[in-house]
Amino acid sequence: MKISIIGEIHPSGWEILKKSKFEVFEIKNFEVNNLKKELNDVDGILLRTSKLEEDVLSKCKKLKIIARHGVGYDNVDFDYLNKNKIALSITGTSNAVTVAEYVLTSFLSLARKINFADKLVKEGKFKEKKTLPDFFELFEKKVLICGFGRIGKAVAKRCLGFESKVYVYDPFVEDEEIQKTNCIPIEKNEGLKIADYITLHVPLNKNTKNFISTNEFNIIKKTAIVVNASRGGIINEEALINALESNQIQAAALDVFEQEPPPGDHPIYKFNNVLLSPHNSALSLECRKRMSIEAASSIVNYLTDKEKLNLNNIVNKNNLGI
Ligand code: NAD
Repeated sequence: MKISIIGEIHPSGWEILKKSKFEVFEIKNFEVNNLKKELNDVDGILLRTSKLEEDVLSKCKKLKIIARHGVGYDNVDFDYLNKNKIALSITGTSNAVTVAEYVLTSFLSLARKINFADKLVKEGKFKEKKTLPDFFELFEKKVLICGFGRIGKAVAKRCLGFESKVYVYDPFVEDEEIQKTNCIPIEKNEGLKIADYITLHVPLNKNTKNFISTNEFNIIKKTAIVVNASRGGIINEEALINALESNQIQAAALDVFEQEPPPGDHPIYKFNNVLLSPHNSALSLECRKRMSIEAASSIVNYLTDKEKLNLNNIVNKNNLGI
């Protein structure tokens, strides 16, 4: 059987696929016409971030599984996969901790204003520390987590370690489940009103697009720090820029953007109270290794021995009847 890897993965994933005697090849040219040509006879695809829409997928006549290297799958035509009984797997156990560490890094760096302190010392102004702006703690602060899935839960655990008060907005999770983890369920607007730290961990869909926009910034506290490591578009960037320009929030961190890469003249670049990263919050070396192993194992198990599959990772298992 033939497996294509679209994008680069850690060698551990390659080893698993090769051990199973699959013919494995990597695609480096992500243009639609090339994808159509190279994917026409593959049985499985291990997919990083390239888009796979119906125009490409309809050419993959032998395709049985797409294994996403990650947990979001808004880059794949999910309806097409369901209609054609093609499995979609994610790496559900690999990256929650890694993204959660990014969120804590952002909260602490922005609250501590660590970039100002670093600059001051490197400029030889050690003695001028009184000129630094006030900085703050996570201790006893109110953290609002929107989306209490794998990543939201991992963030909660870490914030509780800092003795923060953790509030959760997730209409799809029972209050009891939230309370069991020592967090407090709250409605979205109530949470936004009281939070000192806000972090977003919802999937991107038509209900969550612009989840935080002008109306929300109007009720968020001026001292709040807002972090988005979910998907671009969940925070409306124009509204965020306006909020930063009018000091409606204290600071923000973005790992994801409405357009990736963002344009070279994006107005977000000018703020020194904003931390940006290139959609790599889950890409620690440890996590890249875990994701490559988890995605490759899903392909191998799906194609050779479904008994061994981690069914929690198969997004459309009900539709496939497994
Ligand atoms: P998950 O599916 O485990 O959790 C998502 C949670 O969001 C669920 O509990 C769901 O009930 C909740 N939710 C859905 N719609 C909601 C809404 N309208 N309001 C409030 N809650 C809502 O997903 P996860 O593994 O925690 O990942 C969350 C998102 O983070 C993913 O969908 C992905 O897009 C993104 N992500 C980004 C990176 C990165 O590199 N920046 C890495 C991993 C995941």
